[in-house]
Order: sequence, then structure tokens, then C-alpha cells
Amino acid sequence: MKPTLVLVGRPNVGKSTLFNRLTRSRDALVADQPGLTRDRHYGIGRVGERDYLVVDTAGFDPVAKDGIMHEMAQQAEQAIAEADALLFLVDGRVGMTPHDQQIAERLRRADRPVYLVVNKAEGMNRAVAASEFHALGLGDPLAISASHGDGVKELVALVLEPF
Ligand code: GDP
Ligand code: MG
Repeated sequence: MKPTLVLVGRPNVGKSTLFNRLTRSRDALVADQPGLTRDRHYGIGRVGERDYLVVDTAGFDPVAKDGIMHEMAQQAEQAIAEADALLFLVDGRVGMTPHDQQIAERLRRADRPVYLVVNKAEGMNRAVAASEFHALGLGDPLAISASHGDGVKELVALVLEPF
């Protein structure tokens, strides 16, 4: 069984950039499914001989309640349910936002390992970039740069370790 890593976080934090980095140049792209899964993209990542499934989410909003928003909340629940591990991305340049806090609130109750990933940390002191996110109550933040690749291998190694 491939472990399933699900990327979550508010819009614009770099989920799709990380997805592309983890899955690029794989010919074994998993077909995206229609219907309920239309807001998620599936791909295969590989480290050494090891394959894992990566899920990129759009419209992940666990607090949305009605109409299209209600559907987004359902998408979020489904994304959590199918995850073996959740990678919660935040933006190290923008800093912590109320939306990050709302998502963190839901993820703290998830019965899954959650890794708090501070993206866009290239050229920043990683410890400084990460420090304010301790307040999200999801453990030690891990600073990376999805677009430059800094810290990405280390992150994947850490997340896959238990599997
Ligand atoms: P998503 O909405 O969470 O999927 O975010 P995207 O992957 O679409 O990225 C949003 C914006 O952030 C784009 O302009 C990216 O180029 C930029 N971005 C993503 N990762 C990084 C990074 O590591 N560093 C910087 N500086 N920008 C990034
Ligand atoms: Mg995206």
C-alpha cells in the first residue's frame, strides 16, 4: 500500500507548487476522478524505491457551512478521511492568518498525523520564519521552499518514516 499524503491549507500558500515538485516527471500520474473528487488532484511521488500518493486539495475549507461553501467543507472532511498524513501548508512571508487558525482548529481534531509546513522560506532564517506558527498548536513547524526545493526532501523523509 502506498501511503497517502494530503496537502491542505488556505489558497495561495503553495500547495500546487509542492504537489508539482513531489510528482513531476512521474509517468504514473493517477487519473483524477470526476464528481465528488473534482477539487483534488492525485499524483505519485517517489523517494528511493518508495512510492507514495500525493493529493493536492483546492477549496479546502473546513469551516464553510452553506451552498458551495458547504461542499467545500465536505471536500475537506473527505481529504482528511483519505489521508495517512496531512501536510498543512502556511505562508512564511505572509505570516499566520485567521484562516490558518480555522484550518488548524479542524486539523487538531483530525485522527491523523499533521505536519505543519511553513512554505516560501527561501532566503529567510528558517527558525525565525517558523517560530510564530508554534501558536497553531500543531507541533514544530517545518520550513521549506516548494518553489526552490529547500527542505522538501527532509520533509518527505520525515513524513514517510512511520510507514
Ligand atoms: P495553492 O493555492 O496553495 O495551490 O498555491 P500555489 O502553488 O498556486 O502558489 C501560490 C503562489 O505562491 C504562486 O505564485 C507560487 O509561485 C508561489 N509560491 C509557491 N511556493 C513558493 C515558494 O516556496 N516560495 C515563493 N517565494 N513563492 C512560492
Ligand atoms: Mg492550488
